[in-house]
Amino acid sequence: MRKIAVLLSFALFALLPACQKQELYKDNRVMMGTYVEVTSPSKDAAGIVFAEFERIENLLSKYKPESEVSKLNALGRLKVSPETFYVIKKAKEFWQATEGAFDITVGPLVDIWGFTDKKYSLPAEAKIKDALRLVGSDKIILHDKDNVVEFMLSGMRIDLGAVAKGYALDCSVNKLKREGISSCLINAGGQVYCMGDKSGVPWKIAMQDPRGKDFSGYLELKDKSASTSGDYEQYFIQKDKRFSHILNPKTGYPADSGIISATVIAPSGLTADALSTAIFVLGKIKGMALAKRFPDVEAKIIEEK
Ligand code: ADP
Ligand code: MG
Repeated sequence: MRKIAVLLSFALFALLPACQKQELYKDNRVMMGTYVEVTSPSKDAAGIVFAEFERIENLLSKYKPESEVSKLNALGRLKVSPETFYVIKKAKEFWQATEGAFDITVGPLVDIWGFTDKKYSLPAEAKIKDALRLVGSDKIILHDKDNVVEFMLSGMRIDLGAVAKGYALDCSVNKLKREGISSCLINAGGQVYCMGDKSGVPWKIAMQDPRGKDFSGYLELKDKSASTSGDYEQYFIQKDKRFSHILNPKTGYPADSGIISATVIAPSGLTADALSTAIFVLGKIKGMALAKRFPDVEAKIIEEK
């Protein structure tokens, strides 16, 4: 199941062949549960990106028992690294900005729906109610002075699945810049970062049609990230209804806003990642209004016909 999700999300953005003025090096690796593909005129770029992804995964992944997030989830209070603190703080800001549509405390809900271990099931109403008690980023206390993160209720768990890839993209770009590399395309499953340009022209990427095999459009980007949240990568179907891995933190059920795919283009990978997830929950009207409030952010939404 995991593999199918990986392959499908890999297909989301595809590189287009174009007249090539400069030799490009390409490499890929499975990281953060998806294919991370790096294209750059610098042969050192891929190694730098993979090292950054590994470093961030080791801090933020709930699938790594030794990560700071796993330890925080087990203990309910932890002094974390400045980076982990920063990501949790940003996530809480997005919770506020999205009126709770984006909420990293969905951990218990993600678990009971079976999205954590890919054993999908429709939970009993009482179980959803129980889990909802633990949801709400207002219940995360951030102690700025010493980078301590504390949960108000025992049993709370955070899940950074909707921002970690975006943050890893930003870290990779910063590291590439420090190493003197100015041109690189990183494709991490449903999200890309187009750093600089490709021999003087913007990077051109194709967007997959969520319900078909063809492409639904193209993006030409420079120093921007594009993130897509959709219902067609990780989901299950029961009683003719599609349940996707993005949950509505208010209802405890998978988001049901009529959107099948939300793409957000932003200068920051973390912003694009968080906003695409939030818009998927909010629906087209509220989602578009949300995107407008952020400078340099553009959203493309496809609704169910
Ligand atoms: P993907 O990881 O496929 O790129 P997203 O960035 O939209 O997709 O992140 C979805 C993941 O985020 C889910 O698998 C889950 O771990 C977590 N999540 C689900 N619902 C929410 C939500 N409302 N707010 C924040 N995170 C969520
Ligand atoms: Mg996201």
